[in-house]
Amino acid sequence: MKVHKIGTSRPRKKASPSPASSSTHPGVEGGGTATKKRSGISLVERIWHGIYEGTKLAKQFHGDIGLDAFQNINRHCSTLYSSSSSFRILDLIMQAVWVDLFHARVATLASEPQNQYNSPTDNNILALKESRTVFECSEKEMRNKLAIWSGYKKIKDTGGWPALIFAEEGGGVYNVCKYRAGGWKEGIFDELEQLREAIELAADALQPEWRRLIEVLFGPDNRIPRRRSWEGQYPHQWVIGLDGRPIPLSDTYRGGLEYVLIETSVVDEEAWGDRDPRRVVPEGDEPYLCNTCGEIQSEEPLGNKCLCYPDLYGGGAGRRGGKYTPVQICRTQNKGNGLIARLPIPAGAGVGEFVGTITRGLRGVDVMEGGIEPDKYQISQARRGNFTRFINHSCKPNTHFKVFVWLGIERIIIVSNGVKAGTEITVDYSNGYWDGLDKICRCGEEQCRYPRGGAVVYADA
Ligand SMILES: [Zn+2]
Ligand SMILES: [Zn+2]
Repeated sequence: MKVHKIGTSRPRKKASPSPASSSTHPGVEGGGTATKKRSGISLVERIWHGIYEGTKLAKQFHGDIGLDAFQNINRHCSTLYSSSSSFRILDLIMQAVWVDLFHARVATLASEPQNQYNSPTDNNILALKESRTVFECSEKEMRNKLAIWSGYKKIKDTGGWPALIFAEEGGGVYNVCKYRAGGWKEGIFDELEQLREAIELAADALQPEWRRLIEVLFGPDNRIPRRRSWEGQYPHQWVIGLDGRPIPLSDTYRGGLEYVLIETSVVDEEAWGDRDPRRVVPEGDEPYLCNTCGEIQSEEPLGNKCLCYPDLYGGGAGRRGGKYTPVQICRTQNKGNGLIARLPIPAGAGVGEFVGTITRGLRGVDVMEGGIEPDKYQISQARRGNFTRFINHSCKPNTHFKVFVWLGIERIIIVSNGVKAGTEITVDYSNGYWDGLDKICRCGEEQCRYPRGGAVVYADA
């Protein structure tokens, strides 16, 4: 049986630093907001930023697009090379497509009788000359456009349309393609190819409006041919396989167990009635003051003053408790499923809340324990929970558990020790979990505490 086991690292109220004493380094523990600086980041990271944090597409393409708007866009795009506008993404798509048209034109020229003695270079120059009359620019400028736009096409051909669309942020991909820097490094296209479906999955699940861009440009009958669509699906219903292909989460469980994904914990009424044992401040005792920073907590972005874990809590800012956490469930080489970070998560930032069924009295299964008698509770992720269930153990983890009280309710959260983009997120399940288990740890770290034993342990089956 393979259940998530976090056993005894159990942050307990008693064991964890008291609220008063933990406020000594608010800047470190609470500094969750990721840097907004985008310059110098790699192309791949730019794409993930666009998908997980970009709301631009959703805002622009909600609702119908009338004829006037459509014609405006058409006129706008017919210039192709306009440099700054809110529809920059449309330019980008057109320009990538234009490269295909250009090559088709070169091929056409080559097939015409009057050009039968031309070299390929001659035909290239001919086509460039033709386009220059429309673009009204010098040959050098036209060649520059061709070079940069060929970069867009290559990103699109290798990483798929979403890779190009979401890479565009503040003209960033233009610089990437123009200077071949900041992301044009060796192996970038191998990496993009490997990530192609993972990118499409994330884009379809989180920003499905991106497909409308193509409709807008080329009409509803000319959609991007979809090899597969995850539109409207919950991102963690899928697991990225070792070959880069997403597979349904349920297929990765033996017996096809249907795992229920939830974003907030559910109190087991049979165990607790209508009482939530995690509650440490009476309900309605508002305002709730953070016992770490002392500020007012609220789900309303304007009312909230607590910035301890802004990626997890606090209205508009708090998105990481849910589907927008920049992580994907992935198959691992030898540990079953695991959780991979798509963006860096700075030390001190919240990765997610340990969400599951709040119950008690379970024995012989793996649960997280919290609270003190008579409110000692267990959080079970056996049948339902969130993506934190898929975090594997490591003896040298890059995150840790922490108790945090939000709106008067005790939460167990996972806090980053500094997670690099593209790496597996791990946490130490603690000795209490391993003691008495005849299992080996496969973390592969030099300081691994449980390298020998019998069965294999991993976060799920
Ligand atoms: Zn706070
Ligand atoms: Zn280990």
